[in-house]
Amino acid sequence: MIDLHCHIDLYPDPKEIIAKCAQKKAFVLSVTTTPSAFKITNSLSEGHDRIRTALGLHPQIAHERYGELNIFEEFIPDVRYLGEIGLDGSKFSKQHFDIQLKVFREILQMSAKHGGRIMSIHSRSAATDVIKALKQFPNAGVPIFHWFSGTSNELIEAIELGAWFSINPAMTKSQKGRSIIELIPPDKILTETDGPFLTENDIPLYPWDSVLSYPTLANIWKITIDEVHQKLLDNLRKLTSQI
Ligand code: MN
Repeated sequence: MIDLHCHIDLYPDPKEIIAKCAQKKAFVLSVTTTPSAFKITNSLSEGHDRIRTALGLHPQIAHERYGELNIFEEFIPDVRYLGEIGLDGSKFSKQHFDIQLKVFREILQMSAKHGGRIMSIHSRSAATDVIKALKQFPNAGVPIFHWFSGTSNELIEAIELGAWFSINPAMTKSQKGRSIIELIPPDKILTETDGPFLTENDIPLYPWDSVLSYPTLANIWKITIDEVHQKLLDNLRKLTSQI
């Protein structure tokens, strides 16, 4: 299974999660929310080839952590993945939107300077601005919209940009989420959980719960669950060969 966006460092016992992921041979992108969390989070999964750590600065704390951009700059030459980065225009975060935009643009510029990275991007209530910023830095790398929730016009624009999308079990449960998944080219889809933030019956989702999305994908793509699994592995190979 593949979980392209989860926060391993935010579970109560990250080491236990990593051991279980290794046992299940799960491919995991362990995203971080602050540059200062990168080093230790990365060291947690040392020796586990299927678990990669992304360097991030979450837009909802950009106003508190922009001072850590120098740490971001220090680590970016050595990483292949960035995340969680992006913009959040929802009501609790939009008061700091200017600084979010400044931080996001600086990260995209750094990424372009280093030849581009694979980027897991947050775009809640801000997809249009995320797309605009990505267009300003076309060499920043390959964007993956994590938990896309924008309008269908925004979705079409993101698809035209060549973006990828990581979808999760919450999306498969809502009509809007399913109609988003139906519009995305099957070649541009990967799965995620956003655990431990995303929960089911008050229990956080774990990286291996990414398989909860497989029946919906099988249904939409009109293939078997085994074929979904294979397709996602092919997609992951294609994604990682781009950078
Ligand atoms: Mn997240």
